[in-house]
Amino acid sequence: MSECIFCKIGKKEIPAEVVGEDARTLAFLDIHPKAPGHTVIIPKAHCETLIDLPEEEMRPLFAMAKRLDEILVRALRADGMTIGINQGKAAGQAVPHFHLHLMPRFAGDGGSSVHGIVLNPPRETIAEIAAQIRKVAGINQP
Ligand code: 5GP
Ligand code: ZN
Repeated sequence: MSECIFCKIGKKEIPAEVVGEDARTLAFLDIHPKAPGHTVIIPKAHCETLIDLPEEEMRPLFAMAKRLDEILVRALRADGMTIGINQGKAAGQAVPHFHLHLMPRFAGDGGSSVHGIVLNPPRETIAEIAAQIRKVAGINQP
């Protein structure tokens, strides 16, 4: 995956505004920020989706997200944070290297919540959808 842009940023082969780093993860500012301090957090090792993310990468990645969440709020006096993952083309994933977005939010910034991303409510009841999911998950209704 030598042509992967985020692998290259992870290896410092191309520059980025780094705001956090440890042995396994890198946090850097998005090149097209949707908000002041819009940050991308990656595992340095390539994987495409949360499904592919190895167990051992989970803790460092979310520890970095937690650290940056607090730092961004303090540094930029943000009022909140939208934390998101675009997974798959249908969800708008443009860079096929798993990453978290941290978007600092400010009162009256004109943005919306994650509920504003899609409007595709199911035709089935939520009980029917839940049954479909539990069948694959192999669990019964508690
Ligand atoms: P997604 O894949 O979740 O849609 O978003 C990828 C994000 O990476 C975009 O917000 C885009 O602006 C950012 N991005 C793409 N290429 C680069 C780059 O070379 N440097 C930096 N800092 N950000 C990038
Ligand atoms: Zn990669």
